[in-house]
Amino acid sequence: MSMYDMDLDKVIRKINSKDAQTVGLQFPEGLKMQAVKIARIIEDETDATVIISGDPCFGACDVSDWKMKDSVDLIVHYAHTPLPLKYEVPTLFIEAYSNIDVKKNLEKCLAELKGYSRIGLATTTQHLHLLAEIKDYLEDNGKEVILGSSPSTRKGQVLGCNFSSIKDLNVEIILFVGSGNFHPLGIKLFSNTPVLAMDPYNNEIRKMDEYADRILRIRFARITKARTAEKWGIIVSSKEGQYRMKLAKEIKKTIEEKGMEAYIILADNINPDILLPYLELDAFVVSACPRIAIDDSQMYKKPLLTPQELEIVLNKREWENYQLDEILFHERYR
Ligand code: SF4
Repeated sequence: MSMYDMDLDKVIRKINSKDAQTVGLQFPEGLKMQAVKIARIIEDETDATVIISGDPCFGACDVSDWKMKDSVDLIVHYAHTPLPLKYEVPTLFIEAYSNIDVKKNLEKCLAELKGYSRIGLATTTQHLHLLAEIKDYLEDNGKEVILGSSPSTRKGQVLGCNFSSIKDLNVEIILFVGSGNFHPLGIKLFSNTPVLAMDPYNNEIRKMDEYADRILRIRFARITKARTAEKWGIIVSSKEGQYRMKLAKEIKKTIEEKGMEAYIILADNINPDILLPYLELDAFVVSACPRIAIDDSQMYKKPLLTPQELEIVLNKREWENYQLDEILFHERYR
């Protein structure tokens, strides 16, 4: 049995009600191993032919609608919630809620939260359905629990590039529920509030301060190295939710006003290989997914900065005011 609720009844109902003849399936990397099984069930239970998207997918910023628009009547996109973007093909978003049980970790969590009374709660799509249970438990144990909301996300939900739901929460600590460092690191860097990460998959509960400090030291080193750069590449992604061409053009103008050269590079998937041919360029600014510069930086030989980090290089922002780049999908740059 899958650890996630793939909600196949809903998928099959939707395919039948739309009388879809060809259906695109898109999964994040962690769920791709389910693809063939799900395709088989859909083809057995409906008249539709399934096309599985083989490209990497990291968020709803990257629904493969423009690639599939001439081939499918419906896309089923797993594990993300819709963003306020224009999708070219009717798309059914399935949250893929996790079947994990958080009860056994809540007691340990409570011990770690000793001394804190106002607690913010945040999570990712797969665990949104667990927030009510966690909130009740903490409240029953005398805590005040705050869940924030935002125009681009559900209540208590954060994305790797959008932390609007925890903005100005006025809490003493934020409890993140989910796996990995990616989201809790973002919460820590964005909010500058203590963050406790509860990972129900390996029963680990950890504070994020030390890890965030390590990442900030790496960022400081990259920014320092970029101060000697004279020729810049500005990377734009053609993915619908990551496309910030207007911002890239503004960055180009700012760099040129400082007497340096800057060139815009447009690509779909950003990875170290696509930058290899640009030997002349000394450093890059990423206007695409804000997490490429932060989380993948070790993979790149030359400094790769966010727009806010470039401001520090250009002395337009103090290091003390370090800020994580965000994509505010509802008011996105074009
Ligand atoms: S832009 Fe990056 S962090 Fe934001 S949803 Fe897309 S992949 Fe995730």
